[in-house]
Amino acid sequence: MAIKMKKLYEGKAKIIYSKSASQVVASYKDDATAFNNLKKGSIKNKGIINNTISSYLFDVLNHCKIPTHFIKKIDKKSQLLKKVDIVPIEVLVRNYFAGSLSKKFGVKEGTKLPDTLIEYCLKSDELGDPHISTDHILNLGLCDLDHLELIEEYSLRINDILTGIFYSIGINLIDFKIEFGLTKKTKELILADEISPDTCRLWDLKTNKKLDKDRFRRDLGNVEDAYIEVMERLNLKI
Ligand code: UDP
Repeated sequence: MAIKMKKLYEGKAKIIYSKSASQVVASYKDDATAFNNLKKGSIKNKGIINNTISSYLFDVLNHCKIPTHFIKKIDKKSQLLKKVDIVPIEVLVRNYFAGSLSKKFGVKEGTKLPDTLIEYCLKSDELGDPHISTDHILNLGLCDLDHLELIEEYSLRINDILTGIFYSIGINLIDFKIEFGLTKKTKELILADEISPDTCRLWDLKTNKKLDKDRFRRDLGNVEDAYIEVMERLNLKI
């Protein structure tokens, strides 16, 4: 990045720089973490690949009238975004049993859920992102009822759109995590963060091959190749 911008925040996967009172620049990193930071590493070219994939998916969502923070991709690693205050909850949208849900209920990974399941976690590294109920969210004042209802509505619509996109390229969208934020002045609820193989479970439709961060979490190998495969199936180039 040529221009010097003030670093506002450095997260596990991105650095956020201040652009103006209402805009930030997110720069995607190659760093990878899992299990609440217990496993650390890096995935070659992940920043470039995830920036490309997430920019594309947010562009589609914008066109589908889902309000998002995404303005435009600026360069290989970075994108221009509306500045938001992140709602401190992670929204997990699930179409199949996998990961923590499979573990909790002893149901085999890949078992189809009868209906889309939405779960919430508190965004807190210190507490290990505990799962929370909608009553917890409201009682703890993490988000008000109107916004929570909107989060659920948008999450289901986003799931429909993403499921269709991935199905069309031979990929099953098993589950994903999204985050929302409130715009600075008008306090509008919009989709924020990223959507990429870091935040989705993506399985090949025919073979069930994992094309996502589980390859890193579970030491399955060929992590970069899997991320590149998702990008190329989406017909995207670096
Ligand atoms: N996820 C994520 N960040 C997190 C936790 C989960 O992006 O901090 C994604 C994860 O990649 C998966 C979905 O959310 O696509 C559901 O994750 P799960 O609760 O099964 O967690 P995990 O098995 O990773 O502990």
